[in-house]
Amino acid sequence: MLHVHLSERALGEPHGIGRVESPNILVTAAQIAAWCGLPETQVILRDLGCVAPHCTKQARRADIDHILQWILGGSTGDLNLAPLCRKHHRAKTFSAWAYTMLQPGSYLWRSPMGHVYLRDGTGTRGLTPRPVDPPGG
Ligand SMILES: [Zn+2]
Repeated sequence: MLHVHLSERALGEPHGIGRVESPNILVTAAQIAAWCGLPETQVILRDLGCVAPHCTKQARRADIDHILQWILGGSTGDLNLAPLCRKHHRAKTFSAWAYTMLQPGSYLWRSPMGHVYLRDGTGTRGLTPRPVDPPGG
């Protein structure tokens, strides 16, 4: 966690200065603005946690996943990045778990068994129809 102090006036100055609390160092307003504008920072603030179904791990402690792999042309922008804890990042990378972003903060997952989940800011909903008991059973 990084605590920075920056006056409103410093934001408008070309050489405005802010201060990082620990370690107690001075940084430029431009540097603080750059940190806040990083795609990784944006997805951590947007999603707050690992976006895998039912996971409760904090985004700040998560890996940042390329939803469409970078090697396949996936961008390193906030519309292709999402926080996944290490366990779910590995599951997505090395197993048949797959997901897509429906819109920022809303993800559709498919498990290796074909179960479908919607994960968004309200939690996880299973979208796989429940099996119907046979009549007379
Ligand atoms: Zn997770």
